Amino acid sequence: MGFLVLKKGRERSLLHSHPWVFSGAVEKIVEVKQNGETVEIRSFDGERLAIASFSEFSQIIARVWTFDANEKINKDYLLKQIQNAHKLRLSMDLDTNTNAYRIINTEADGIPGLIVDKYDKYLVCQFLSAGAEFWHENIIEILTKEFNPVGIYERSDTDSRTKEGLEKRTGVIYGQEPPSEIALNEEGIKYYVDIKTGHKTGFYLDQRENRNKVKVYCLGKDVLNGFSYTGGFGIAALAAGANRVINIDSSAESLNMVEKNLVFNELDPSKSEQVEGDVFKVLRTYRDSGKSFDLIILDPPKFAESKNQLEGALRGYKDINLLAFKLLRLGGILFTFSCSGHIVPELFRKVVSDAAIDSGKKVQQIAVLQQSADHPVLMSFPESFYLKGLICKVW
Ligand code: SAH
Repeated sequence: MGFLVLKKGRERSLLHSHPWVFSGAVEKIVEVKQNGETVEIRSFDGERLAIASFSEFSQIIARVWTFDANEKINKDYLLKQIQNAHKLRLSMDLDTNTNAYRIINTEADGIPGLIVDKYDKYLVCQFLSAGAEFWHENIIEILTKEFNPVGIYERSDTDSRTKEGLEKRTGVIYGQEPPSEIALNEEGIKYYVDIKTGHKTGFYLDQRENRNKVKVYCLGKDVLNGFSYTGGFGIAALAAGANRVINIDSSAESLNMVEKNLVFNELDPSKSEQVEGDVFKVLRTYRDSGKSFDLIILDPPKFAESKNQLEGALRGYKDINLLAFKLLRLGGILFTFSCSGHIVPELFRKVVSDAAIDSGKKVQQIAVLQQSADHPVLMSFPESFYLKGLICKVW
């Protein structure tokens, strides 16, 4: 097996079980032939630290499979990871309340670069790293046997593939072609999901538990759902008895899907207004015209894609949260989120607190939220704790 030797003193993060090796930490690469192949990671002094997959073109030059340097990475190893991930999902009893959830969550389920989501009888996969790609065929075969899906659809069309030196790829890779809209049934709410062209693998499954949590705050309330996508939170709010919902998104296509989802759930469409626009601007016009709400949800896209976008991202979060606090009536509730991996939970909490203070209102923190349990976090890998949220109350 080929191996990477680290520069002197650069083994620290691996000794703390962090699964990424950055190219800047590598002293030399020995006998490694192929993008994605399995390599050993050695310290400068020759200590065998981990077994990893090699990403020739990425700044993350290796992703750790295991810190047991004697482990063999093969089909049996992959089967074991996938079976463990499956067992965890079964233990969560997810099928009782939904027909869509995440089955494999990359590093946090032991397979760096692999995402597998279940949508009813279909699986949707993303192979995001050279290492996952290297085992593509084996992984598909295992998934087929373990989950017996009607079809598997690949959505390896993310920009991260380019960084890994891989072409983007989409299409059916096993069984039947899924319909263009799959019917999802989540906690009693129905959503159409376009797994072929929708965001991520089609739906924000990571927000399932939080969409459910919103319901208790909705009865008879005026709700603003900022960054609505296909209406996840907005439809749940209306179904839970909201008086009125405004869904704001910059994508007309997503808002069309909100309309379809209203009909799908037999909800009164006159209670739901879809506003195509920039949330930053729309909230300002609402503030200037004296509008107010009982419940506001802010679930923006990643504002910080990289560390050097951090400052701008923090300004963005501060801005929308400040506007939201201003728009909330006395007793009003804010569900606010950040999915930027670079913004750690404590930093997000600080931005939201600063916004609360600047709004001049008295604000309580009611709860701390995170990604749903089927998107586990690897404790030694803070980057996998990417979705943070808070419930706040103006009182
Ligand atoms: N809450 C949703 C997911 C939101 S994803 C759910 O539970 O399903 C973020 C959404 O924000 C995307 O649909 C994207 O189109 C939209 N978006 C991105 N920037 C925006 C902006 N400045 N103003 C309005 N919408 C924006």
